[in-house]
Amino acid sequence: MATNNYPKRKKRYKIKYKNLAILLAGLLLIILLISKGCSAIFNRDGKNDGNGDTPLTTGDTLPDEPALPDSTEPPPTSQLAYLFDFITLTEDDLGTGNLVLVNNNIEFRGSVSEDELDVVYEKKNSAYKVKDLSVMVRPVAMEALNNMLLDFNTVTGNDGVEIMAGYRTYEYQQELYDEELESTGETSSTLVARPGYSEHHTGLAVDFTTNINGTHKSYDGTGDYAWINENCYKYGFINRYPAGKEQLTLIDNEPWHFRYVGVPHATVMHNYDYCLEEYINFIKNYTISNSSLSPEKPDFLQVETDDGSIYMIYYVPMTGETTNIYIPLKDKDPNSTSNEMYPYEISGNNIDGWIVTFLYQQGTGSISPQPAGSPENVLPENSETDGGDADNTENQE
Ligand SMILES: [Zn+2]
Repeated sequence: MATNNYPKRKKRYKIKYKNLAILLAGLLLIILLISKGCSAIFNRDGKNDGNGDTPLTTGDTLPDEPALPDSTEPPPTSQLAYLFDFITLTEDDLGTGNLVLVNNNIEFRGSVSEDELDVVYEKKNSAYKVKDLSVMVRPVAMEALNNMLLDFNTVTGNDGVEIMAGYRTYEYQQELYDEELESTGETSSTLVARPGYSEHHTGLAVDFTTNINGTHKSYDGTGDYAWINENCYKYGFINRYPAGKEQLTLIDNEPWHFRYVGVPHATVMHNYDYCLEEYINFIKNYTISNSSLSPEKPDFLQVETDDGSIYMIYYVPMTGETTNIYIPLKDKDPNSTSNEMYPYEISGNNIDGWIVTFLYQQGTGSISPQPAGSPENVLPENSETDGGDADNTENQE
């Protein structure tokens, strides 16, 4: 599922160095930089391997702390050395991608136009409902929603989830914010995010309510719906404002607000019980910047997802007006002329760098409990609804 997105992502960023001569020049530059920054290139055991023409050699793949789940084994030692190609990004790209962090202190730097969005009403399957035609999300979140809620419906027989909010414009958030201040008489709000600071601007966040035979109730993630909150990571969603993380997210527990971040990242956050703020910090421990090419510091975070796929994740800090993002090549033979990269995805963190994810090994399994079917165009059962009594201000963060 997630891998289908990689070719698209690749097109988003210009690949500046395609031909071998320039690739080799780039690699030579890396070698020069490394030999300046470090006295030697290390092999996995931390010894100078004495092989001066080895391009980049990563350190240990597995971190010491915190431990990875038992199910993830490091790749064989012989496969730890990678060759890299790179693409160049600028500060403008920081707000693009599935891992942008937006909260009360961090304004969304990206922009989303409506032609990049799916109308949920038009793309949804029959396993759930949607408030009306105004609800839109990014296609990657649309596909994940369909898969997750179809599996939920298959397991529980419940089709009562209704999507009541998705993408919001800056102007609409301003309206919500102004209304909230007017009704409370306050000069700021702890319930409604300021325009620009709502995660709903990204097109990756949705709010759920429930609608059983036209009766709306707040979605609290209990009963049947607990399945969604427990399994959403397998589909790339996180419960963005969990209980116990309020001081980090700056938002009260909201079991109805889900955010798409991608399957490998949602899996790590689930395994370690991290909220997005924690994860964006945590991932900075994994980088292939020159100073980290030592055995003491791991280079890639490795994660095995529910379908058995193995992903490698690392962070690239912004280094200036332009930043080169290095992507491993599949072929690790320095004499090879192939420059095919692993399937990858890049996301800005919306602050100061990028997170690179590459698919090291495609899993053979499928997401439990069963593969999801293709979306159907089905009219919402309650298409005239305006969200009913569950449409209140607590859903406007
Ligand atoms: Zn929300």
